Formats: sequence, C-alpha cells, structure tokens
Amino acid sequence: MNTHSIKAYGTVSATQPLQEMDINRRAVLAHDVELEILYCGICHSDLHSIHNDWGGTTYPIVPGHEILGRVTKIGEHVKNFKIEELVGVGCIVDSCGHCEYCEDGIEQFCDEGVTFSFNSPDKISGGMTYGGFAKTYVCNEKYVVHMPEFKDLAAAASLLCAGITVYSPLKHWGAAPGKKIGILGIGGLGHLAIKIAKAMGAEVIVFTTSPSKVEDAKRLGADEAVLSSDAEAMAKYNRKLHFIIDTVSAKHDVNTYLNLLRHDGTVVMVGLPVEPLEISAFDVVHGRRSFAGSNIGGIAETQEMLDFCFEHNITAESEIINIQDVNTAFDRLEKGDVKYRFVIDMASLKN
Ligand code: NAP
Ligand code: ZN
Repeated sequence: MNTHSIKAYGTVSATQPLQEMDINRRAVLAHDVELEILYCGICHSDLHSIHNDWGGTTYPIVPGHEILGRVTKIGEHVKNFKIEELVGVGCIVDSCGHCEYCEDGIEQFCDEGVTFSFNSPDKISGGMTYGGFAKTYVCNEKYVVHMPEFKDLAAAASLLCAGITVYSPLKHWGAAPGKKIGILGIGGLGHLAIKIAKAMGAEVIVFTTSPSKVEDAKRLGADEAVLSSDAEAMAKYNRKLHFIIDTVSAKHDVNTYLNLLRHDGTVVMVGLPVEPLEISAFDVVHGRRSFAGSNIGGIAETQEMLDFCFEHNITAESEIINIQDVNTAFDRLEKGDVKYRFVIDMASLKN
C-alpha cells in the first residue's frame, strides 16, 4: 500500500512520556478523505489507552480521537466532502457496513468489529491505526462528519467523542421536559452532559466528588449540584431521578446511585473504570431498576449531535495547549485538574 510519513506524537510504552515520532498514513483511496488536523481533544480514554489500563494497547501508540480538521484531499469517488471543508473524525473509522448494526446506524456495535481511530487493527493498511495527535488523518468518507461553523472551533473538537458519548444515551433514555436526570462526574463527558441534557429540556442534578465543581456546575447549567460525600444532601434525591449518566473513570460505589432512581429508573454507565463494579441485587430488585451502558454513538447520530450542539450553542469548556505540553496535560487529567477538556492546537506540531 502507498503510504507517506507524517509527524505525530505518541509513546512506545506505558511508562514513557509521549514524544514526537514519524508514522505512516495511507495515500488517499477512491472513497477516502484526507484532513489536515487543526485541533484534537484529549479524552480520558486516551489516558487509559497510553497506560494500557484496559490491556490491549499496542505500542507505539498515537492517541487522539476528537479530530477536527480541514479537508486537503479527496478520493475520486468521494461525494459528500469538498477540499477546504471543515470536518470531524471521532472514534469510528471503519466497520463492515452490512451487518444489522451497521445498517441500523449503530456502527459502534458492528458484528465484525469496528475499527477505532487509534490503537485498532487497521484492516486496510495493516498494522494499527494511529490517532489524531498528528498532522493529518485519512479515512473513508463514511466515517467523516461535517463540522458546523462553530465560532470557537477548538472548543467544538471534543464533541466528536465526549459530546456523542453523552448525547446518545441522553436521547435513548429520553432526556426531555418533565424528566429529572442525574449526571455523575463533571469531567469532559460530564460537563457536556449537563449542557446537552439542559438543552433537551430535562432537569439536571449533578453529583461530584470535587467541592470546587459544585458552584461551577450551576454555571454550566445544572439545576442542582451535590457533593457526593454529603450524605444529607444525597438523601434528598432518594428515589427521585428518572435516570443517571455515570461518567466516572475509576472504581466507585454504583449502589448509592441506584438508590437515587425512581422505579424503572436506569443508571447508564459510560465511564470505563478498569476494575469491575459491584452491584447489590437488592438495589436493582427494589424499584425494578436497571444498570446499563452506552458506547459512543453511530456516525449519523454524531452528525445529528453536532447540528444539535451548533443550534444550542454548545461546545466544551476547553483549555488549549501546544502538543509539547501534552504530558503535563495527561498528568493533570489523571489528577482531575482540568476544567473541563484539554484540546491540542495541532499547529504547534511542525512538519
Ligand atoms: P474526565 O474528564 O477525567 O472525567 C471523569 C470524572 O469522573 C472526573 O472529572 C471526576 O468528576 C470523576 N471521578 C474521577 N475519579 C473518580 C473517583 N475515583 N470516584 C468518583 N468520581 C471520580 O474523563 P472523561 O474524558 O470525561 O471520561 C470519563 C470516562 O468515560 C473514562 O473512563 C473514559 O474512558 C470513558 N469514556 C467512555 C466512552 C464510551 O463510549 N462509553 C467514551 C469516552 C470516554 P468529579 O470531580 O466531578 O467527581
Ligand atoms: Zn473519548
């Protein structure tokens, strides 16, 4: 396969810092779009992956799956994109296209296994996919979305993973006027969940371990914010919530939150802690409650989410960094020291 070398940032082991490296991108195929990457968000999944928290990381790894850029080349059969257009690539860059899941627009559950934008076996080029901490990206146009003309483009990048990951379950479980919803954890995903759930018309109660985020949650639009260590404040919500989006990245007690659900309520897990979570049978049996999960969203739904966020003026609260500061950013993300998403200005990576 015809490839060319580009500059990227990645790491060669779980214990080494990220550093500049050269990687190969395939030449544009007939249905491919090539983009020059302008901004790339930093998701906690990037952190889990570089540390090999979940197992399955292949080194060297180039993370990054909130990829916003401008089209620089298109293949001869590309129909939906033009040179210079602003576009996004999220987590999914390939799938079989014909299983029932792909046909239903939920490519993330593809029967033959989806190809993720980084650290995934690349069925086209061989080897592994390399993510958006790089100068360019190339993939089939089916997995590229049109970026609306957000005023702050850098702040829109994180919608491509964090945004769709919370939009999809909020929509699926019915965030709407008259619904009282809990958001657990105010990080990259959680703070966008507050904004999107409010724009859908729901009443939003936020649960946080961080005292400094209680007031801030209200600025972000939450109706109420509760410090989860405050048992009295927590008890006020016993059996009150229709559903909860749980974005927590580490092991935590889910049973406390199951007890905040009304009957038939659901705790929807989107966070991906390494260790298994323990669920008390009593807390789901009582109230006929459910514990569920949700994984990003399909491509059509990602486009729908972007258009929704544009219409409602929703972007991530972003701290823009240069690629040379990415290791400090990962250290800070690990400590929960970011309000609320790091985004890399990829112009800082020189050719
Ligand atoms: P993040 O910005 O680090 O936010 C996670 C938040 O969880 C923190 O801000 C903190 O909120 C809370 N938290 C962290 N450690 C905690 C602990 N020990 N106990 C209780 N709360 C804790 O991360 P993110 O980028 O939003 O990602 C969150 C999780 O979602 C990660 O595990 C990531 O891999 C996963 N993820 C899943 C999908 C999917 O498709 N399902 C997609 C993207 C990411 P407070 O300070 O408010 O307590
Ligand atoms: Zn992500």
